[in-house]
Amino acid sequence: MSKRIYMASPTMYGDEQKFIQEAFDTNWIAPLGPNVNGFEQEMEAYTGIPYCTALSAGTAAIHLALKLLHIQQGDTVICSSFTFSATANPIAYEKGKIVYVDSEPETWNMSPEALKRALQAHPEAKAVIVVHLYGTPAKIEEIQQICEDYKVPLIEDAAESLGAFYKGQQTGNFGELAAFSFNGNKIITTSGGGMLASKKEAYTKKALFLATQAREPKRHYEHKEIGYNYRMSNIVAGIGRGQLMHIEEHIQKKKAIYETYKKAFSDIKGINMNPYEQEKAKPNFWLSCITIEPEIKATVNDIMDALEKENIESRPVWKPLHMQPVFKDCEFFSHRNEGEVPVCEEIFSKGICLPSDIKNTPEDMKQIIDIIQKMVK
Ligand SMILES: *Cc1c(COP(=O)(O)O)cnc(C)c1O
Repeated sequence: MSKRIYMASPTMYGDEQKFIQEAFDTNWIAPLGPNVNGFEQEMEAYTGIPYCTALSAGTAAIHLALKLLHIQQGDTVICSSFTFSATANPIAYEKGKIVYVDSEPETWNMSPEALKRALQAHPEAKAVIVVHLYGTPAKIEEIQQICEDYKVPLIEDAAESLGAFYKGQQTGNFGELAAFSFNGNKIITTSGGGMLASKKEAYTKKALFLATQAREPKRHYEHKEIGYNYRMSNIVAGIGRGQLMHIEEHIQKKKAIYETYKKAFSDIKGINMNPYEQEKAKPNFWLSCITIEPEIKATVNDIMDALEKENIESRPVWKPLHMQPVFKDCEFFSHRNEGEVPVCEEIFSKGICLPSDIKNTPEDMKQIIDIIQKMVK
């Protein structure tokens, strides 16, 4: 069997080893230590967000963001539907009421129009979570403005979009709080990890407190609140420091992959790339996706089967959360009129994530493209 071609897998260098070795040499294996502080400072410098807190996962960062905004049982939280379940699960941890919002067709992210309708219907909403899916910035200025108008704090799920820009500012700078992920398949990885980011020192302090079991400043262990074990370890942070040194290279390679697919499919009517706002946004191109329009005879499954036969990984785009059995009772606001198929449901019916691993060779890319071209012509 030929080697497997992946959608996105870790790409490691020697730099991670150096930071880990340092941790071993100084016996700084326990949580906290110089790599954790170093990684936070380097993320602050890179993203331009003043306060970053290193955590065990992106999901933990979203959970703590909700805790910092005092989301409690029964509170309404408005959330993108077209995303991974990790975006919304923390709302369920707190027994909040989730209201899902559709995508718009220009970026596949939260529709500002549908958000406005959701907020008109739910003025009691305590937070909005917007996702920058596949590394493509949402229409974040419009969304930020709407949240300001309705006086509801905005959380950015930037798990997939580290290094992406909107009008000269990195994603994560627009919300009250933002979450990044360093899971194994993300643009940079620590094997597993996350970062909570904000402009307020008070948030960092409280996040740190909650992430380390909510220990009161006493000599003995004193607890007035329920805490979590969410802190990133010094070893994991060492991997992150080594990875962050290579992020620009990763983004350039991801962009080249996107451009290669785009060029290859440009003359096939009925195949389109995942879109972005060319004038305003600079995605990090984490995953390249295509949509297969009805005029193409091959189906999404035909194409994925043909790729799998050659040991090439692909996947449908995220299944919208309002369609998931576990969230079936949640309310949903469509971008479109009643009776029309919502935007994210349409994308789900025709979208495929293509291999976007930066270790893929030009020959790998040619093989993938040849298979798809043959299927659709
Ligand atoms: C990966 C991901 C998360 C969760 O991050 P983890 O570090 O895996 O917990 C959240 N939201 C989105 C959109 C993601 O892709």
